[in-house]
Amino acid sequence: MNKGYNKKDMEILAGIWDKTGSNSMKCPECGGKMVLIQVEPINDAYNAYIPYDTIIECTHCDFKIRAESFTILGSIKEFDTHNVEIGSWSPSGSRVLSKYEHVLDYELLKNLKKSGELVEFLIVNNQAIQVIG
Ligand SMILES: [Zn+2]
Repeated sequence: MNKGYNKKDMEILAGIWDKTGSNSMKCPECGGKMVLIQVEPINDAYNAYIPYDTIIECTHCDFKIRAESFTILGSIKEFDTHNVEIGSWSPSGSRVLSKYEHVLDYELLKNLKKSGELVEFLIVNNQAIQVIG
């Protein structure tokens, strides 16, 4: 299972994750901190973004979950307490609107929508869980 690990990517992702302090990344078994590791790309010709086979594992015990994750560069178009709509571009350059459930901070989303700033969203199992950068 360790084959294909990119240690550097792993450390970067783990580092990014540490900044959030999000409750969604607390280990359900022991309450320890969980880190997200993108293992390898999943070939999916119909997805505009490259999904990665992903493992989210506890840094304290053996608990781990597998998921699918990817990032989207875009700006907030609409949002409410449950869903967020992200405006981005397909590989061919056309505008794309994607809607996801989210666990993001309401104030953060409000500010991002107001500024129209382009940021990267981390999507795990079709849920927007983090804004990067
Ligand atoms: Zn744990």
